Amino acid sequence: MGAIIIDGKIAASDLKASIKAEVDQRKIKNLPVPGLATVLVGSDPASKSYVRAKHRACDALGIRSVGIDLPAEISQEDLESKIKELAEDASIHGILVQLPLPADLDEERALNCIPLNKDVDGFHPVNIGRLAQKGRQPLFTPCTPSGIIYLLKKYTGMIEGKQAVVLGRSNIVGMPVALLLLRENATVTICHSRTKDLPSIIKDADILIAAIGRAEFVKGDWIKLGAVVIDVGVNRVEDSSKKNGYRLVGDVDFESAQKMASAITPVPGGVGPMTIAMLMRNTLSAAKQADK
Ligand code: NAP
Repeated sequence: MGAIIIDGKIAASDLKASIKAEVDQRKIKNLPVPGLATVLVGSDPASKSYVRAKHRACDALGIRSVGIDLPAEISQEDLESKIKELAEDASIHGILVQLPLPADLDEERALNCIPLNKDVDGFHPVNIGRLAQKGRQPLFTPCTPSGIIYLLKKYTGMIEGKQAVVLGRSNIVGMPVALLLLRENATVTICHSRTKDLPSIIKDADILIAAIGRAEFVKGDWIKLGAVVIDVGVNRVEDSSKKNGYRLVGDVDFESAQKMASAITPVPGGVGPMTIAMLMRNTLSAAKQADK
């Protein structure tokens, strides 16, 4: 029997519908409309398109959004004072600084200017620190990792007691998803570029999360029969049959992996759509926290 294909588009669309219903209810009750501010520094085309997609999602759900576009040459001080201005604005519940920042700006200092209760991306060092500590609760958790946990719970049930292997240890995906899996009581192994004999480690995984940015790197015969495979990677490979000359593939060789897995996310259409849905959920949650 083939693997269940985990459809992130449907999951994200269902989640967004429930967020919209809550936002509509808030309007009926005259509660403040959730507000998200994005801060984009420079004109990197990929960053611009991610920010545009976030504003489109806000519009569709009735969330107010404000886009602050700043020149790549902005000084650290001016960037920080812009973020602090947003921090003071009561109509803004969430602030998102689009990463990466241009190389001469200090990302950690910029993120530190976002107040904890507006950190809807979940990257503030205190939120990440709380995520890593037993018995502590972060106010927000990072969006892509939270989307992964959401898909695992919705489509595959139990995480507790499972052997989970995470490929990648980045601040954005690998490390926070490993911490979230640990909070769900999985037994977690984190692998990275210096890990020896990846195939034998992956072979033990009931849950495999691949987030390394290497096209079709993980082969089907590395995967344990019946494992759940979540492919976070988004990689371009040349494809002359496509108008733009490329297609997107994940970090897992989908064709061979789906023969071994019990459930697998496709690329595109798996984890990707969940990231923005989780950002919308965090923004609504920030507005609800501000009601208290
Ligand atoms: P990243 O910051 O470049 O980190 C890559 C991680 O993979 C690093 O920890 C690196 O190890 C490890 N790695 C690289 N090559 C490896 C190899 N051959 N074997 C084992 N580990 C290896 O990437 P990222 O930001 O986490 O993103 C990972 C992928 O997810 C990318 O394709 C990205 O586009 C995608 N992504 C998707 C979404 C989404 O919404 N769908 C969101 C974010 C990212 P070291 O630490 O040792 O260098």
